[in-house]
Amino acid sequence: MKCKKCNSRAIANLKQYKIALCEKCYPKFYESLVKRSIKKYGILRKDERILTAVSGGKDSVALAKVLKNLGYEIEMLYIDLGIREYSKRCKNVVEELSETIDVDLNVLKLSDFGFTIDDVEMRKVCSACGTAKRYLMNKFARENKFDIIATGHTSEDLTSFAIKNIVGGNFGWIEKLKPRIESFDEKIIPKARPLFERKEKENMLYVLTLKLPFSTESCPNAPINDWKEIVYEIERRKIGFNQNFVRGLINAKKLAKLDVKYCKICGEVTTSDMCAFCKLVKRYSKN
Ligand SMILES: [Zn+2]
Ligand SMILES: [Zn+2]
Repeated sequence: MKCKKCNSRAIANLKQYKIALCEKCYPKFYESLVKRSIKKYGILRKDERILTAVSGGKDSVALAKVLKNLGYEIEMLYIDLGIREYSKRCKNVVEELSETIDVDLNVLKLSDFGFTIDDVEMRKVCSACGTAKRYLMNKFARENKFDIIATGHTSEDLTSFAIKNIVGGNFGWIEKLKPRIESFDEKIIPKARPLFERKEKENMLYVLTLKLPFSTESCPNAPINDWKEIVYEIERRKIGFNQNFVRGLINAKKLAKLDVKYCKICGEVTTSDMCAFCKLVKRYSKN
């Protein structure tokens, strides 16, 4: 199998795009796909200062590198959640990444708030982790004058999340599944998902061909995501399913209007009197 662009030995045959590519041509092809999504859906603007959330996994590593290569002004944020040795190993990876791709890295530690994810009861761990990440990311971005937060969510992430919620009869989330979410309050920083049309495999191939450092370890607390497995299976049978699905979500109309309040403790945006993060601090913090 030869590379369609340069005739060298191909390392990947991308059936969905009907193209085989070599190690050198694949990264350029991947970057052109991301560039096209950003332009077509207005995901980012060239004058925006972007904060990229990085976990050390292939998707966020691919995101930081592709935005850098496309000429965006970015910095990275790593949130150390204090999950045993796992958080430390991921931090080492993102520190190495920062050097490799020459992008500044900011690190926040949940332990500075008097607790870590290891203090939270097992059945509440994943929701506490999500709350802490969203809260700290938004606050850090705002206080440091970033215009937008970019995350490495893939088409499989968005599709599996959507299907899970449809099955659960929960439709209030539709607005959250778009490639760019504008702010509904001055305290909220807009969010961008430049990789929303990408597959995990495409991100993986990008970090491998560029030999970027990344972690293959998954969070020790994460349950097996059955919905993800189902989505992989549908994609195996119907190539392009995920992309079509996430593109379709863009046209979904807003269903519920959020009732904005401010937390009585910290002043961040919430839907009740005290925000979910302050509830965590109140319950677990030793400070
Ligand atoms: Zn080539
Ligand atoms: Zn609060």
